[in-house]
Amino acid sequence: MVRGVTDIGNANNNKSTDKELTMSKQVIIDTDECIGCQSCVEICPDVFGFNDDDNKAFVINPDGGSIECADEAAASCPAECIHIK
Ligand code: SF4
Repeated sequence: MVRGVTDIGNANNNKSTDKELTMSKQVIIDTDECIGCQSCVEICPDVFGFNDDDNKAFVINPDGGSIECADEAAASCPAECIHIK
């Protein structure tokens, strides 16, 4: 799988009834900076996936987990390359 310099996940559906998930968020991984530690995948596997081919994380579904989960993954990223808006 080929990935660009920046992997952006963004979803604007309002299908979820979970209050934590009703506010759509944008999750961005600066893949140039990703060191492939997989910390984000371990913390928040419903949002982040891992591409073994290029050893980089990618966004599966920006609304796949709670905002807190994605925030925790971003805070734990040693490369500080996860950005949430
Ligand atoms: S935590 Fe950061 S450096 Fe580690 S795999 Fe995820 S995006 Fe890459």
